[in-house]
Amino acid sequence: MSIFDHPEFDQHEAVHQFYDAATGLASIIAIHSTALGPAAGGCRRWHYATGADALTDALRLSRGMTYKNAIAGLPFGGGKAVILASDAAPKSPELFTAFGRMVDSLGGRYITAEDVGMKMEDMHHVAAQTRYVSGLPQDVNAAGGDPSPWTALGVFLGIEAAVRTRLGKDSLKGVRVAVQGVGNVGFNLCRLLGKAGAVISVADVNQEHLDRVAAAMPVTVLSPDDILFADVDVLAPCALGKLFSQQTIDRVRALVIAGAANNQLTTEADGQRLRDRNILYAPDFVINAGGIISVWHEYHGGGTAEQVRADVVRIPERLDTIFRDAHATRRATNEVANDMARALVAAAGQASKKEALSA
Ligand code: NAD
Repeated sequence: MSIFDHPEFDQHEAVHQFYDAATGLASIIAIHSTALGPAAGGCRRWHYATGADALTDALRLSRGMTYKNAIAGLPFGGGKAVILASDAAPKSPELFTAFGRMVDSLGGRYITAEDVGMKMEDMHHVAAQTRYVSGLPQDVNAAGGDPSPWTALGVFLGIEAAVRTRLGKDSLKGVRVAVQGVGNVGFNLCRLLGKAGAVISVADVNQEHLDRVAAAMPVTVLSPDDILFADVDVLAPCALGKLFSQQTIDRVRALVIAGAANNQLTTEADGQRLRDRNILYAPDFVINAGGIISVWHEYHGGGTAEQVRADVVRIPERLDTIFRDAHATRRATNEVANDMARALVAAAGQASKKEALSA
């Protein structure tokens, strides 16, 4: 099958495949759009069942990054890298060094950072090979570093906004929130929810991560099979995507879905299915923009943590606009957010066409 026939192909500008024989590194870097600037998005290292699954993920995630960066008002296009984890290509400095060379070969059209399965330490090896990387350790009070606490802050503020809209409550005190996945983002989110007095339940497939959160605050641990259908007010998916579909939506009991995971809907039609059930869905690429906002400030250079915070706290106002528009036009929130993002990208494309013609 040609990439142009792939169901997730959406006018992606480029899709690069890389293989490094010395380390066994297999990686795909998808550049969805550079209309607003260089394509930026994290690198995910994951055990995919097949290479086709990895390609699908790269195509979907890179488009999501275009939309996320557009709505966050960042001068970034959308891209994403995936590394196919396997026993033949174990994590090693050499593997990340090879990945850094691949990123560098794109000459700045793609800027990477950490995502699922990657740590700040790994990015060090990438940074030894390329300057097109962000999410590196920074001085205290400087912008940047691990993006996940900023993602968690944006998600927390987004949950507050969604709870105000759907439950009519101004506080999370006593609000029951189920967090699926307590890794980098989920753990930080639980800390904020705990401070706000929310009643937290969690699930994870990683026992160490469960132990860490249980040691830090009172939580109820649920099975990974049950958490999506728990009797709670808010569901905060912070693991992986493709959660909500024709098969699962009927069983969801939460009134709000607001979490960090990318691509939570299996298809765009699932947004309407959630709306039909009166479940308020905070579009993932709007609520989880905190990390890329931090990445932008770090990449741009010279910023402070306070500047990152000032931008992240604007996430709820964007969500409020989407919630209001969706209500007024009787549309699903994901459709409204998609249209907003596409309009911003199209406007940037028109502006650069005009510039090219007048040059
Ligand atoms: P992470 O790898 O640190 O954490 C993910 C957690 O989910 C892990 O603890 C993992 O064990 C758990 N998990 C995996 N499958 C599960 C399942 N079926 N049930 C329950 N738990 C499961 O990743 P992260 O950085 O915290 O990112 C979480 C999500 O948020 C991802 O979808 C990521 O793309 C998205 N996101 C992250 C950032 C960021 O700043 N890190 C930014 C935007 C979006």
